[in-house]
Amino acid sequence: MSAEPLDHTTLGELTSSVHAGNAIDAGSGAIRTPLVLANSYALPEDPSTLSWSGTEVPLYTRNSGVNQLALQRKLAVLERGEDALALASGVAALHAVFFGTLDAGDHAVVTDHGYEATHRLFTELLPRKYGVEATLVDTSDLDAVRAAIRPNTKLIHTETIANPTTRLADVAALAEIAHAAGALLSVDSTFTPPPIARPLELGADLVVHSLTKYINGHGDAMGGAVIGSRALIQPLKADAMVDVGGVISPFNAWLIQRGSVTLPLRVRQHLASARVVAEFLEQHPRVAWVAYPGLASHEQHELAERLYPGGPGAMLAFAVDGGKDEQNAFVARLRIIVSAVSLGHDESLIAHTSAGASPRAEYWPERFAAGHLRLSVGLEDAEDLVADLRQALDAY
Ligand SMILES: *Cc1c(COP(=O)(O)O)cnc(C)c1O
Repeated sequence: MSAEPLDHTTLGELTSSVHAGNAIDAGSGAIRTPLVLANSYALPEDPSTLSWSGTEVPLYTRNSGVNQLALQRKLAVLERGEDALALASGVAALHAVFFGTLDAGDHAVVTDHGYEATHRLFTELLPRKYGVEATLVDTSDLDAVRAAIRPNTKLIHTETIANPTTRLADVAALAEIAHAAGALLSVDSTFTPPPIARPLELGADLVVHSLTKYINGHGDAMGGAVIGSRALIQPLKADAMVDVGGVISPFNAWLIQRGSVTLPLRVRQHLASARVVAEFLEQHPRVAWVAYPGLASHEQHELAERLYPGGPGAMLAFAVDGGKDEQNAFVARLRIIVSAVSLGHDESLIAHTSAGASPRAEYWPERFAAGHLRLSVGLEDAEDLVADLRQALDAY
């Protein structure tokens, strides 16, 4: 007699990160879901019971497959949602939410502090191609959000902690505003993977992740996900996977599932090191400013303490004294911290975000003028990261 299946949502975060979504493979007896690289799955003798657009039974890899289904089950458990949709990138996941929840003539209220692709989707592509209206506001300003609501507002979209400014959003308060207006709240929680945040528990309707970042954690596979209720996720699957085709590859789904096994352990180290690095930077005389919500100097520190008692992630923004040339000279001196985009990898990553063109610069001109460095604190020894920063600060 075999044991009852476990309810993973009642287990601790370490246990569910190890076991959720995994199953003994019926064919081989392997105790780990194997990587299945197949475009098609055998049809039943009588396919008349099948939907050719179905996404629950492996049929064709654009509809679903062994590894995508396993990853989706795991993500639903980690975020405490009923269902999840895994796609080829975080941006594909954002697009799936916006495309899936908004029709021509609908209006969205969107963070003005957020990710570059979100900004472009709402200022250029969605209005021009689909007739979607959007108002960009600082979603940490609840009065500004309320004032932006219109009769046709169907979606509020924010980031838990904004990339790259580290501005915080009060998800529970935004959920109340959205629901009072008959709108949905979607939250990009890429900076705050579980267990740091679980926006669905605070009233969000949809959570978006770039799996490319912390959830994979090893900098070697791209993916994106949307998690929420079955009623909201099912139509997004049909639209974004079957009919738009932004599916995640089985190999990337398998890699990300593998990477996510250690997510809560990695998060503990990211949080601990981020605090050490932020405190070091803040006291250094050649650092112009630091924005880390865990520091008392952050303009939303109290909100950060309330929302993230375990620590507000491991993403910092700062600048060294001087202008853009000095930021570049400082970055060039770093030997451990790597100058590259992306975040949430094992290695620490720094990007001089105020260099290069960005349509978002108009929203925080002071920082863009003086310099803005985004630092993703990785899994190296915090002492080594501090030493690396110190020698670069002394030498630039
Ligand atoms: C990286 C990122 C995305 C996009 O994810 P990709 O996997 O690069 O497509 C979306 N939102 C945030 C906050 C991100 O940091």
